[in-house]
Amino acid sequence: MSAPAPPRKRFGQNFLHDRRVIDGILAAAAVRPEDHIVEIGPGRGALTAPLAASGCRLSIVEIDRDLIAWLPQQPWWREDIELIACDALKVNWTTLAPTPLRVIGNLPYNISTPLLFALLGTPAPVRDLHLMLQREVVQRMAAQPGTAAWGRLSVATQLRARVEVLIDVPPGAFFPPPKVQSQVIRVLPHDPAPQLPRSLDGLLRQAFGARRKTLRKALSGRVEAALWAAVDIDPGLRAEVLSCADWLRLASAVDAAGYTAGDG
Ligand code: SAM
Repeated sequence: MSAPAPPRKRFGQNFLHDRRVIDGILAAAAVRPEDHIVEIGPGRGALTAPLAASGCRLSIVEIDRDLIAWLPQQPWWREDIELIACDALKVNWTTLAPTPLRVIGNLPYNISTPLLFALLGTPAPVRDLHLMLQREVVQRMAAQPGTAAWGRLSVATQLRARVEVLIDVPPGAFFPPPKVQSQVIRVLPHDPAPQLPRSLDGLLRQAFGARRKTLRKALSGRVEAALWAAVDIDPGLRAEVLSCADWLRLASAVDAAGYTAGDG
């Protein structure tokens, strides 16, 4: 059993070694033998080994070829672990269903946001996600309206899921230590998954891209003047004070007015 290659920066490899954090994630996830766990980025198996020992159905997704070869040689490996050797952003999650998926991952920071939205957008049933992310990203996901952290990521996340911040994780919990603080979160997708207005993401991008401007200015050309009164939103406000419900109302009205389809 050869030692794995040194950590690779390009794959965001910061391996967990702090027992308190590893146990904390496992306790939060409370895995049962009947669960189907999907671990994204098993790395050197800090979470994978105890997950394998829990007796659950386990699928793991890893991109690094050295680790893909190394993991099945470990003493804790189980022959029935499904090793998906590819980029997690390219996985078709529906092929892992129909059992509701429980996703666990200490994610490489460069793929965390696109992966989160792929998992929140897949038609596959996803019961929950326990994820280690950069603290700044978690703070934005879990933010409240009217705060500096409230933005496109907060609205886009909270319209699709409930977010609970669970554990603070300092850089020293990893090898090598990253430059940033991390946090573990639980993400509980809304059930049933909401049908969100087509114009929503474009509106959020445009409005929060100009968050110092009033909504009237930031969204001119996209929201007709008459629409503001119809949805009962003051266009003199800024994007950062609108709640999820406000954004939903606005985007639904914009969809109904029918002039944003296809806008980025
Ligand atoms: N879970 C391990 C731990 O906690 O120690 C490793 C975490 S490390 C931060 C991220 C892991 O994700 C690495 O094993 C890395 O090779 C893998 N990874 C990076 N990019 C990936 C991608 N696009 N798809 C799948 N795995 C990826």
